[in-house]
Amino acid sequence: MSKIEIAAPPAGFEGQGFFATKFEQAVGLARANSIWPLPFATSCCGIEFMATMAANYDLARFGAERISFSPRQADLLMVTGTISKKMGPILRQVYLQMAEPRWVIAVGACASSGGIFDTYSVLQGIDKVIPVDVYVPGCPPRPEQIIDGIIKIQELVKNEPLRRRNSEEYKTLMSSYGIE
Ligand code: SF4
Repeated sequence: MSKIEIAAPPAGFEGQGFFATKFEQAVGLARANSIWPLPFATSCCGIEFMATMAANYDLARFGAERISFSPRQADLLMVTGTISKKMGPILRQVYLQMAEPRWVIAVGACASSGGIFDTYSVLQGIDKVIPVDVYVPGCPPRPEQIIDGIIKIQELVKNEPLRRRNSEEYKTLMSSYGIE
C-alpha cells in the first residue's frame, strides 16, 4: 500500500510567516486534488474502474473518492467501456449537462478508438462526439494505467489558466463539436 502524500504547494515566494503564489495556481491546486469523477461505465473497462476505486488501488488517495452519478455535480467524465453509436448522443448529453470546467478521460481501447469492435454499430472513439483530454490505452487498462490517466488530468487541471474556457481556442474546439 503506498503512503498518502500531501499535495505539493504550487510555485511561489516564501518567507518567514508568509507564502505567496498566483491565484490561478491556488485554484488549480484545489481543483486538481478534489476531482469529482462521473464513471460512464458500459462494459469490461468499468470493472477495472471498480478495482481502481477499491482498497488495493484506492483512488481516494488522489482526492477523487467522491464518485458522482449526476453530471451536474461532476467535473471529470470517465468513459470506461464500449460506446455504441446509439449511445453516442446520450454520452454527449451527459457531457453537456456537466458544468465548466470539465474534463474527459477515454479509458481503454473501446472508448479511445472503438477497440476491437470495428463494426457498424460501435462508435470509433468517443472523440467523435465529445472532446477528450486524456486517452488511457489498454484492453482493459490496469488500474495503475487508469491512475496514471487521473494524474495526467491533475497536471492539466493544476496548470490550466482560469481564462482558458473563455479563450478563442477553446471556443473553436467546442464549436467543432457543435457546442456553443
Ligand atoms: S477496451 Fe477491452 S476491456 Fe475495455 S471495454 Fe473494450 S473490450 Fe472491454
